[in-house]
This record gives sequence, C-alpha cells and structure tokens, in this order.
Amino acid sequence: MLEKFRRFELITPIWVDDFLRTSNRRIYAVGDVCLEHKFTHTAEASARIAVRNAPFPGRQRLSALTIPWCAYTDRAIADNEEASFVKIYVHERSDRILGATIVARHAGDMINEITLALVARVGLRTLARVIHDYPTQADAIKQAADA
Ligand SMILES: Cc1cc2nc3c(=O)[nH]c(=O)nc-3n(C[C@H](O)[C@H](O)[C@H](O)COP(=O)(O)OP(=O)(O)OC[C@H]3O[C@@H](n4cnc5c(N)ncnc54)[C@H](O)[C@@H]3O)c2cc1C
Repeated sequence: MLEKFRRFELITPIWVDDFLRTSNRRIYAVGDVCLEHKFTHTAEASARIAVRNAPFPGRQRLSALTIPWCAYTDRAIADNEEASFVKIYVHERSDRILGATIVARHAGDMINEITLALVARVGLRTLARVIHDYPTQADAIKQAADA
C-alpha cells in the first residue's frame, strides 16, 4: 500500500477530484502538478476547467475531455517512412470511432483529425468521404477509413 502511494505521489504530487478540486474544495490545481498526462495541451485544458468550475462548482469534469497525445520516438526511426501506420479503432458492427494510433513523422498533427471526429461524433464512413489533399501523410487516415 505504501509502495503504491509513493508511486502515485511521484506521478501527481497534488491529488484532485474530477472537478480539479484539491482536498480544500475552494482550491483547484491544474497542469503537470495534478494530471496523469503531462502535456502542454492537457495543462491548458485543465486550466480552462478550473476557471469554469471556480465560479460554478462541479460543472466541468476532467474525465469528459478527449485528450490526444503522442510519444516522439527516436528521430531516425520515426523518419523511416516504411514503419509508419494508421490504426483506427471502431465499435464492433458500426463505424463509431473509439480511438486511433498513428505512427508517423507528423503523427502529432495527424491525430487532430481523429480527435475532431471523436468530439464531433463523426463516424468512419464520413471520414472516408472527406477529400484529403494528395500527396499528404494525413491521407493515410482516409485510406484507413476506406479500408
Ligand atoms: C523536455 C520536455 C519536453 C516536453 N515536450 C513536450 C511536448 O513536446 N509536448 C507537450 O505537450 N508537452 C511537452 N512537455 C510537457 C510540458 O512542458 C508540460 O506538460 C507543461 O509545461 C505543463 O504546464 P504547467 O503549467 O502545468 O507547468 P509548467 O509549465 O512547469 O509551469 C509551472 C510554473 O510554475 C513555476 N513555479 C514552480 N514552483 C513555483 C513556486 N513555488 N512559486 C511560483 N512559481 C512556481 C515554474 O517556474 C513554472 O514556470 C515537455 C516537458 C519537458 C520537460
């Protein structure tokens, strides 16, 4: 139990609830200090939640966010275009998108299209209908949707 507590404490020094409230419900925490995913965009998104929740407690939940993130790997490996791929996960027997994995040189830019589709509840069939400029790496998303 102690070991578990220590490990968690290293990841997030300040504990918050789903509304980003600390143990003192009038004090909020945002960003790396309290989030599991430590990125600039998650820090900003959590700050927006705290700013909204401070005057109107308990309106916006951290768990409601759709958060994209990518791991930037060794540049030489990432630059090897043959190793790139797009995987889109859909609900069984429907085109509802559940998530995606993109490994590519510009994966961080490409994943935004999937995030938009998730937030706007756009299905895979619609993605397949979107005309993507050619030749672009993002066209791999359309090709995956087509497949
Ligand atoms: C090498 C590196 C590369 C990264 N690359 C990426 C990336 O490519 N993409 C991405 O999304 N994220 C990246 N990150 C993560 C990103 O930088 C952080 O997630 C983001 O900066 C968190 O924002 P924040 O406001 O929570 O904290 P911070 O940006 O760390 O801001 C906290 C601020 O509080 C100040 N501070 C600390 N203690 C006190 C105090 N006692 N009193 C007053 N001020 C204090 C600090 O000086 C700092 O300015 C990277 C991080 C590192 C270290």
